[in-house]
Amino acid sequence: MQVNLTSDTATRPTPEMLQAMFAATVGDDVFRQDPTVNTLEEFAANLFGMEAALFCPSGTMTNQLAIKCHTQALDEVICEEKSHIFQYEGGVYSMISSVSLNLIQGERGKILPGQVAAAVKPRYDWLPISRLLVLENTCNKGGGSIYRLPEARELVKEAREHGLAAHLDGARLFNALVETGESPADWGATFDTISICLSKGLGAPVGSLLLGPQELIDRARRYRKVIGGGMRQAGYLAAAGHFALQHHVDRLAEDNARARRLAATLERMPYVKAVERAETNICIFHLAGDRQASDFLDQLAERGIQAVPFGPQTVRFTTHLDVTEPMIDYVLETLTSLED
Ligand SMILES: *Cc1c(COP(=O)(O)O)cnc(C)c1O
Repeated sequence: MQVNLTSDTATRPTPEMLQAMFAATVGDDVFRQDPTVNTLEEFAANLFGMEAALFCPSGTMTNQLAIKCHTQALDEVICEEKSHIFQYEGGVYSMISSVSLNLIQGERGKILPGQVAAAVKPRYDWLPISRLLVLENTCNKGGGSIYRLPEARELVKEAREHGLAAHLDGARLFNALVETGESPADWGATFDTISICLSKGLGAPVGSLLLGPQELIDRARRYRKVIGGGMRQAGYLAAAGHFALQHHVDRLAEDNARARRLAATLERMPYVKAVERAETNICIFHLAGDRQASDFLDQLAERGIQAVPFGPQTVRFTTHLDVTEPMIDYVLETLTSLED
């Protein structure tokens, strides 16, 4: 059996999603003439109670457009040190927006109460101007950790008291919402802008959305175009995203439950030193003794299981739409059978 636990970006469109893509009515989205893109943007904006949305090729683009629209050159963005915008976006905030990051050390990628207020810089000519707070829910490198809405609201309040705007990197926000039962609209009411990924556990092949006020989204649309993100008949992709938002949200609870099953078995394995709490669809664990992640991943690969290293002795498993219950059974059997 082949099981791909590399990332929830590995999902491929289901037959029903492909059907929706085939059936899409399209036009040139750069002229705003693609009805399917327009429908997706309206649908998502409504879901979050935001004025407008912008369909982009990637979550890196939606995050970076948000940073660009909220800041000016020589401003700084406050975020946790495990943030995707710091770890995995190539440092491009320095290029596109000419800003620096003020990194906070929190817990599991989450900023703690009081840390935002403490991080905001006083206004001196020799200091960057703190302008934007970015939170990430769930936090990937934090092990898929969840912010509860009251926690996020407290941090955003600290930011606003100092005149900062607030952006949410919600690439996997729905993985959190199916656990907490919180509504997208309440999250929309808390942040100035939100980015969500359609191409992760939601199962669309491509696409992310930036949600926010009309005026900001209009500016983001212009920046999207000049950095090469204006897509023409993007409706074929938007149709997949729209289908995902309608049909693939509730099922994320299954992915989360499967990651917890993996974590529970790993806890009992002698070759595992520690398993980070699996709150959503990500399970990060650390190997015992001098076992190397690369060797362990080779052993798994020989048995048809793919995953990624998250450090010299650390491994990440990610569950998603294309990982079924029998596949998880197979992974658990395999893990149990591995030599200590
Ligand atoms: C995947 C991801 C993104 C966006 O990544 P792209 O590969 O550019 O779509 C942003 N933030 C987080 C937390 C992510 O996991």
